[in-house]
Amino acid sequence: MTHQTECQRCGTCCENGGPALHSQDLPLIEKGDLSFGNLITIRKGELAHDPATDSIEPVKTELLKITGKKGSWSCIFYDKSRNGCTIYDHRPLACGVLKCWDTDEILKLAGKDLLSRLDIVKEDNPLRKQLIEHEQLFPLPDLKAISRTISRSSKKTIKKLERINNKEIAYRMGAIDRFNLSVAEELFYFGRPLFQLLTPLGFTARETASGIKLGFK
Ligand code: SF4
Ligand code: SF4
Repeated sequence: MTHQTECQRCGTCCENGGPALHSQDLPLIEKGDLSFGNLITIRKGELAHDPATDSIEPVKTELLKITGKKGSWSCIFYDKSRNGCTIYDHRPLACGVLKCWDTDEILKLAGKDLLSRLDIVKEDNPLRKQLIEHEQLFPLPDLKAISRTISRSSKKTIKKLERINNKEIAYRMGAIDRFNLSVAEELFYFGRPLFQLLTPLGFTARETASGIKLGFK
């Protein structure tokens, strides 16, 4: 068996998901190589793979990730037909550092100097105030604890989550209308709605005239 020593350009890492942005990537935003609509916010408390422990844990600090395409995490900039990155010369730091055959360097970078929304949404952008308020009004519940207890969750707990979810959706709908946000911009400014974070844990979410109804499978 031969040891891999260089990138085979197979695209597996790009298909597994775009990178998180680090402070060194700030010029990509400032020069317009990446727009807010290219990014999805992973809010503090969302569950994600922690490469250091190889387990699913709540993220300790917010991070911005290159968004995926068609409901998957496959990086929007990955062109499968050409097995290549369409922004290769302007790709984020983590993409250049990633070597799937030797993960030392990427593990050293993981979780350090991460960019957050407040690093890139300028003071004169009215949505800055809005996203700060959103974070104060709707901090994420403890998703890890919820994932452990879902099968034993009482109707009262589910109703409480449902109320939070529907209030949060009403808030984001107000901002979408007021600022005419695209879906991509919404996911940057506010992250994913709670029900989308609950369904991978085993919850069901059904749209009704009075809002999203939560249950579990
Ligand atoms: S780093 Fe590894 S997974 Fe990514 S494209 Fe290269 S060979 Fe494929
Ligand atoms: S930005 Fe380019 S190199 Fe980085 S994950 Fe996306 S397609 Fe791959």
